[in-house]
Amino acid sequence: MKKNYSNIYSFNKKIIKKTVNFLKLNNIVGLPTETVYGLAGNAYSDKAIKKIYSLKKRPRRNPLIIHYYNYEKAKKDVYFNKNFFKLYKRFCPGPITFVLKKNKNSNISSLATASLNTVAIRFPKHRVIKTLLKFLSFPLAMPSANISSGLSPIDAFNVFEEFKKKLKIIIDGGRSKIGIESTVVDLTNHPKILRPGIISPNEIKNILKTNFSKKKINLRSPGMMKKHYSPGIPVIIGQKPKNINHAYIVFGKRFKSSKNYFNLSKKGDLKEAAANLYKIMRKIKKNGFKKIYVSKIPSFGPGIAINDRLSRASK
Ligand code: AMP
Ligand code: MG
Repeated sequence: MKKNYSNIYSFNKKIIKKTVNFLKLNNIVGLPTETVYGLAGNAYSDKAIKKIYSLKKRPRRNPLIIHYYNYEKAKKDVYFNKNFFKLYKRFCPGPITFVLKKNKNSNISSLATASLNTVAIRFPKHRVIKTLLKFLSFPLAMPSANISSGLSPIDAFNVFEEFKKKLKIIIDGGRSKIGIESTVVDLTNHPKILRPGIISPNEIKNILKTNFSKKKINLRSPGMMKKHYSPGIPVIIGQKPKNINHAYIVFGKRFKSSKNYFNLSKKGDLKEAAANLYKIMRKIKKNGFKKIYVSKIPSFGPGIAINDRLSRASK
């Protein structure tokens, strides 16, 4: 590892041990997951949770997703229901987050849930976070490892760029395969998708065999904030760039290569497009483009999540 990046570690037994001890002392670390990289801390500790909010400059009213090794470890903290088990069986561990009622006996810091009576839980698949969660006696609160409202990081260097040496440990687990945040589904009442992700609403519908609630919800949640996932330069949807100082995000083989064209997936694969979205937006910004224009992206499957992120980035 280069000297500049002395806080980025490869995955091995030694770093796992060091990280476990570090987390026990209510410190915060940068960790890989299959969706995006996260900023992790002890979900049972007010002290750790305060550090996460302050590092991210995240509004305190926006609750954090709590990560567990498996459902047994979450028993004490939430009330499960039938819909939960159906989806758990099909998709976990994986890129899906469940909002459930908080258990009366839960030890989760009320700061992490923004004093709501609900908790958002996820069971990540990436082997680094799974290994850590297995050894820990507490779950990890873990929002994406970026300053609030910006783009989520998809590799260890993205995390370094956000926080530099403010983090003592960032574990390098390679590029996040999925590349966008988890699907969030509220199961406290009639199921409702709060945030689309790589697991599409239809896949969930097929398992639950029910339609989603259309009720407007009044949740104070970050993924639901209009402006989010912003690359820091204007994003304009459905128009072509005016000149070559403007980048053009395109999708599919009908687009020729050009210096200011960035193809999310030449072969027209929406999963690949989702995995490339933040990487490409970061690259565009780094290359000095002043604006991002976006061509039409199909709105089904992972396309729903891509359009959701682009639309919020454009606000
Ligand atoms: P982020 O940490 O930015 O990936 O976003 C967390 C997402 O989880 C938000 O978009 C919310 O939809 C959801 N969420 C987290 N905690 C709760 C909670 N206690 N109740 C309801 N939704 C939550
Ligand atoms: Mg985030």
